[in-house]
Amino acid sequence: MSALAIKTLDGKNAKVSGEEVEGLRSGLRGMLCLPGDTGYDEARSIWNAMVDRRPALIVRAAGAVDVQRTVDFARVHELLLAVRGGGHNIAGNAVCDGGVMLDLSQMKSVRVDPAARRARVEPGATLGDLDKETQSHGLALPVGINSTTGVAGLTLGGGFGWLTRKYGMSIDNLLSADVVTADGKLRRVAKDENPELFWALRGGGGNFGVVTSFEFKVHPVGPEVLSGLIVHPLDRAADLLKAYRRIADEAPDELTCWVVMRKAPPLPFLPAEWHGREVLVFALCYCGDMAEGEKAVAELRGLGDPIADVVGPHPFVGWQAAFDPLLEPGARNYWKSHDFQELSDAAIAVLLEAIGRLPGPECEVFIAHVGGAMSRIAADATAYPQRDSHFIMNVHTRWREAAEDETCIGWARKLFDAAAPHATGSVYVNFMPADEPDRVPEGAYGANYARLARAKAKYDPGNLFRMNHNIPPAS
Ligand SMILES: Cc1cc2nc3c(=O)[nH]c(=O)nc-3n(C[C@H](O)[C@H](O)[C@H](O)COP(=O)(O)OP(=O)(O)OC[C@H]3O[C@@H](n4cnc5c(N)ncnc54)[C@H](O)[C@@H]3O)c2cc1C
Repeated sequence: MSALAIKTLDGKNAKVSGEEVEGLRSGLRGMLCLPGDTGYDEARSIWNAMVDRRPALIVRAAGAVDVQRTVDFARVHELLLAVRGGGHNIAGNAVCDGGVMLDLSQMKSVRVDPAARRARVEPGATLGDLDKETQSHGLALPVGINSTTGVAGLTLGGGFGWLTRKYGMSIDNLLSADVVTADGKLRRVAKDENPELFWALRGGGGNFGVVTSFEFKVHPVGPEVLSGLIVHPLDRAADLLKAYRRIADEAPDELTCWVVMRKAPPLPFLPAEWHGREVLVFALCYCGDMAEGEKAVAELRGLGDPIADVVGPHPFVGWQAAFDPLLEPGARNYWKSHDFQELSDAAIAVLLEAIGRLPGPECEVFIAHVGGAMSRIAADATAYPQRDSHFIMNVHTRWREAAEDETCIGWARKLFDAAAPHATGSVYVNFMPADEPDRVPEGAYGANYARLARAKAKYDPGNLFRMNHNIPPAS
């Protein structure tokens, strides 16, 4: 084959000879795809349809050795390298234009040891892959709320969902990982092995290497959990949110209740006259004894005069996928996120004013309820520092046509700016769009940033892993 022009780390193009590309290909267990090859478009398509990039070559890895070979190839030729897990990140860092893409999505194995309550997970597994395996043993890991999200990116940024208040974040349950660092070495990291790298991985995103295997502690959950939605008209939202914030403050760790405000989708249990009208939704899950759960959710269920209440026992695996139909890949998406320690009256007023001006039927604001076990870990125990946040708000703007970009993005930014005085100033790195590099040091990492930059200097001094919310090496 002829030489390939591949984008380098400094944004130029390098000519890599056909022999060298063939050398990479022949050493792989997986596939090397060039533009036009089978699998190329599948690998480069990610959740956020605003990101449409064309790598010069894609390695669809089958195992750790493929990862090592690809990292070596990129480092030796100083090539731009993107790493894809589940491909869900809003910023689109899983794919690059003109560089090398390392696609891990074929590495999906999940192996559960029920006696030891541990799970080994490869980096292409989705939350759905993980939940199905762990739940067949009545076990689960705290992860996110959309089953097509990748375990890898979610965990590397922190990872929270319905079980976090009871069992901590995904990173709080990480026991060890296998990581290919920029020098091409495969290292095991754990509390007692490469401890600084283990610390940095738990929240530091993809900055420190490519994880080829995660080992998690898992917990007894389900198989059914008390869960479901309570849907209210938006005109009672201010009172409902004021009652909600108190209930959320006092909730036992087993109870998690998120708020979603949007135009009602045509869900089968909603009367047709409500479809397309603004609603406030409580989405809740109690991950413990069913009878205790009924008592814990009673006050929330008693609020106002809901349009629908579909709270009841549901299989945990099903509840984990309940939002999937609203979050399918293929739409254009832009997010803005704030952390809150409390939902002040002023913050509520800002949110409700913006919900009155929703730019489209798929746009929403959600407020995740966190805390509990997550907040009982010290802010410097892992790279993820925001242990005292109580609510994480995501302005989730979602639409179909490029012509609507300006309106939708403008709405999200305006709401973000108006809410800023009432928020903590910090942000969950996994909810950050691509245009917020200035928020990485203070917003995402705060007091942990300097230590992360030192770990970066040790493990990736050339900043090979830069397609992420980047932490440049300390000088
Ligand atoms: C619809 C939706 C719902 C979500 N809900 C939640 C939620 O409930 N809770 C929550 O915590 N988060 C949630 N998220 C955010 C999610 O955690 C991030 O988008 C996360 O980055 C996705 O991981 P991924 O592997 O799918 O993404 P990718 O885009 O593949 O990767 C994300 C980043 O991690 C890097 N990376 C991926 N795999 C590896 C690896 N093996 N080694 C090194 N670096 C790697 C990538 O290079 C990229 O920079 C949600 C996202 C979406 C789109």
